[in-house]
Amino acid sequence: MVAQIIDGKLFSQRLRDKVALNVADLKNNHKITPGLAVVLVGEDPASQVYVKSKGKQTKEAGMNSYEYKLKEDTLELDLLKLVYDLNNDDAVHGILVQLPLPPHINEEAVINAIDPAKDVDGFHISNVGLLATGQSSMVPCTPLGCLLMLKEFHGSLSGMDAVVVGRSNIVGKPMAQLLLNESCTVTITHSRTKNLEHVVGRADIVVAAVGKAEIVKGNWIKPGATLIDVGINRVEGSNGSKRLVGDAEFSSCSEVAGAITPVPGGVGPMTIACLLVNTLVACCRKYGLSEPDIKLS
Ligand code: NDP
Repeated sequence: MVAQIIDGKLFSQRLRDKVALNVADLKNNHKITPGLAVVLVGEDPASQVYVKSKGKQTKEAGMNSYEYKLKEDTLELDLLKLVYDLNNDDAVHGILVQLPLPPHINEEAVINAIDPAKDVDGFHISNVGLLATGQSSMVPCTPLGCLLMLKEFHGSLSGMDAVVVGRSNIVGKPMAQLLLNESCTVTITHSRTKNLEHVVGRADIVVAAVGKAEIVKGNWIKPGATLIDVGINRVEGSNGSKRLVGDAEFSSCSEVAGAITPVPGGVGPMTIACLLVNTLVACCRKYGLSEPDIKLS
């Protein structure tokens, strides 16, 4: 293996330690405790795991965690009512509605009902527009985590060729926007892209956010490129046991890339750490306090 491992576990621990220090400072010097409300609708097992983990890490950082678990058949109107109540709750600085929502609920309507200043997922249309125009916004957690790791590894990204595989609103598009804001030359690819491996092969930075197990192969990658693997795919091993793999084939990609994030232990841990960062930022902004420095080192 030639690639250096970008250790998301280590970086996320550093980030969470920084958040905890900032929270302690807010409590001691300003008598303020940041609060994060997480709303889960339904019984989706993966979402339940994420919500539990978010709650645990929020408390470990010294923040208040408020969890709302609603039944699968909750009416959209009742969910909107809860969002409005949380918008008006002074103890709540961040609101996250866990996606996906059940099919009878309009996700866009719910996301856009969240106060943009409390939208710690960064999915509200106002935050999307602010990010697209390079203004101060709430940045979606997963792309933010990817960007922090890239900047930690490379320093400046200016002038680098970046290819983002995937164009979802929650990962691909904001990731591309962040890289563009860092003056990368950005290509966004998707399911209709022709000659995907050829396009990927030009990149100094590849971010794979596809949701297809090990689709990106080592022979696609330019030697020495940095590969950020966002994918989380559960596959069955030869003995029938389940394991997690990314959107890149780690064995072949790590032979060629200069640096690579593993799955698990790469982007995943950074996502929750960035949620805590965003909650802290939202809280500081509310009280006009200086925002935390969120570099990893
Ligand atoms: P989506 O399904 O919303 O988007 C997938 C994107 O991949 C789409 O834009 C799609 O193109 C594109 N795509 C699908 N097939 C191909 C293909 N053969 N070639 C090129 N592009 C393709 O997924 P998400 O963005 O929500 O998530 C992507 C992955 O990241 C998933 O594995 C998810 O579990 C993981 N994830 C991980 C997180 C973490 O914290 N680590 C957080 C969020 C997601 P098109 O638009 O044309 O359909």
